[in-house]
Amino acid sequence: MNTLKYNSAILLIICIGILNVNSQTIPSTKASIEGFNDAPKLIVGIVIDQMRADYISRFWNKFSERGFKRLVNGGYLCENNYINYTQSETGPGHAAIYTGTTPSINGIVSNDWYSREKNDRVYCVDDFSRESVGTVLIDSNGKKSPANLLSNTIGDQLHLATNFKSKVIAISLKDRGAVLPGGFTSNGTFWYDNVNGKFITSDYYMDTLAPWVIKFNDRKVADSLMKLTWLPSLDIDKYSESTPDDVPYEGVLNSNVLELNKHTFPYYLNKDTLRKTKYKTLRVTPYGNTLLKEFALAALRYEELGKHSATDLFAISFSSTDYVGHNFGINSIELEDTYIKLDKDIAEILDYLEANIGKENLLIFLTADHGAANNVYYSKDHHIPAGLFDSKITEELLKAYLKEKFGVDNLILKFTNLNVYLNQKLIDEKKLSLYEIETAVANFLLKCEGVAYANIAFEIPIFENTYAFHKWIKNDYNAARSGDVLITLLPNWMEWGNTGTTHGSPYNYDTHIPLIFYGWKVVNGTYLPEVNITDIAPTIAHLLNIQPPNGCSGKPIPVPLNGSR
Ligand code: ZN
Ligand code: ZN
Repeated sequence: MNTLKYNSAILLIICIGILNVNSQTIPSTKASIEGFNDAPKLIVGIVIDQMRADYISRFWNKFSERGFKRLVNGGYLCENNYINYTQSETGPGHAAIYTGTTPSINGIVSNDWYSREKNDRVYCVDDFSRESVGTVLIDSNGKKSPANLLSNTIGDQLHLATNFKSKVIAISLKDRGAVLPGGFTSNGTFWYDNVNGKFITSDYYMDTLAPWVIKFNDRKVADSLMKLTWLPSLDIDKYSESTPDDVPYEGVLNSNVLELNKHTFPYYLNKDTLRKTKYKTLRVTPYGNTLLKEFALAALRYEELGKHSATDLFAISFSSTDYVGHNFGINSIELEDTYIKLDKDIAEILDYLEANIGKENLLIFLTADHGAANNVYYSKDHHIPAGLFDSKITEELLKAYLKEKFGVDNLILKFTNLNVYLNQKLIDEKKLSLYEIETAVANFLLKCEGVAYANIAFEIPIFENTYAFHKWIKNDYNAARSGDVLITLLPNWMEWGNTGTTHGSPYNYDTHIPLIFYGWKVVNGTYLPEVNITDIAPTIAHLLNIQPPNGCSGKPIPVPLNGSR
C-alpha cells in the first residue's frame, strides 16, 4: 500500500513536471495534418485494372470532356510511369501503389505463390482464420485480410499521422483490389461476392456489415444491370481504334449460357438467369464498373468522406476493364466500349466529388495496376514475334532432365507463376548442391522456347542495379516466397490460351501505366522523366507532410502546386 502511494506521488510530480515543461518551454507541437488547414479533405485513389498508359491517347477522341479528359486537362500527367518489378499482376500492383514499395519488401510477389511452409498455394489476400461478413459463413469469398502484406500502406500512415481521426475506405469488385489498398487499419474494406451479387467484407474489419452496405445490397443493383443488353455506345463502324467485331482473337462472353456463348454484339445479359453464373458474367461487361460506381457514390455519401476534421482516403479499383481485356483482348471493340462507358462512370464520380466536397479540397490520383499484351495470334498475324509458353510440358521435361542428371526423383516441389521451387529438404538429405541444381535448372530453361532469362536465387540478391530487367527481377524476389529459379519470358510470350490476353511480364505493354494527379493545388501540366508505381504513395505522403509507408522505397514526384503550403 505504502509503495503504491509512494509511486502515485512520484507519478503526480512527473506529470506536473511535464505539464510545466510543455506550457513553458515548448510553444507548439509539430503540426499534424489536422492542424494543416490547407490540407486536402479527401484523397481519392482510382485504380483502373489493366489500363495501359496509351489508352489515354488511343481513346482520347472517344472520351467525353468530363471523365478522363477532365483529369488530364486539369491535372498533372506523369507520361512515363512504369512498374518496377517483373510480376505485373493485380495483387502486386495494388500493393505497390499503396505501400510505395516492390514485392521484395511488401511480400506480394504475385497474385498467388507456393508456400514451402504450408506446402500449398497461398492467394495474396486469403486468410482462413477469418469469417465472411455479408454472405453465408461457409462461403470463403469473405475469408480475406491483409495478413500476407509485409509493409503498411499510405492509408495506415494517414491513420498514424492523425491519431486515427482520418477515415480510410477501400472498394473494388476484386477482393485483392480492395484489401491491399485498404491496408491494415481501414475503416471499411468491401468487395463484390460473385456468388450472391453483393458487396461483402470479413470479420477482420467488422463483425456485421455496415448498415449502408446492407442498404446498398438491398437495392439489387447487380440484378438490375443484368437485365440490360450490352450494346456499343457508338455506331459499330465508329470504333476505328479497334479490330472488327468478329475476329478469332476474342473469347466468348460466357461459355455456360448458350446465347452468350459468342464474341459479337449485342450481348443479351438477361439470358443469363443462373444465379451460379450471372453475377460472374456481370464482371466481364462494362456494367461491372457501373455497379462499382454506384457503390462508390453510396460510400462517399454514407461514410461522409471528406467531411471530417482530418484528411480521409477513398481507394476505388475498377476491375471490369481487366476481365473484359482478358476475355476479348485489348484490340476488341468490347474493350474500347468498356472504356467509353467507364469514362461516363468516372465523370459521375468526379461530378459528385466536386459538387459536394469541392475540387480545392480533393486530391485525386488515377493509375493502373498493370497493362496487357496484344493477343498472341493477332501479333503473329502481323508478323510480330509472340508465343504461348506451356509450363506443364516444360515442367515434365525439366523433371526428366533432373532425374537423369542427378539420379534423384522429385527434385521439383512446384512450378508455378514462372517460379521453380526446388525440394530443398531432399537436396539436403541427398547431400546434393543446391547451387548446382539451381544452375542446371536455369541452363535447361534457357534452352526452352520463349524463355528470355532464368535467374537463380543465389545470384538475384547480388545483382548489380544497373540493368533494368535485372533490377526489376531483384525487386520481385522475396526469399521466403519466391522460387529457386525465376523465369522471364521473351517479349509477347505468355502463359495463356488462344483468345484474349494477359499480363505479368516486365515489358512495356504490361508495365507502362497511366498516372494523373488532379485537384487541390495541383497545377495542370505534364512530367516526362520516368517515375515508378512505387512513387505514388511517397508523393501523397510528401504532399500531406506525413511519413511515407514503413517499407516505402519509392521517391516523391515533384508535383507542382499553386501557392505555398
Ligand atoms: Zn489487375
Ligand atoms: Zn488481369
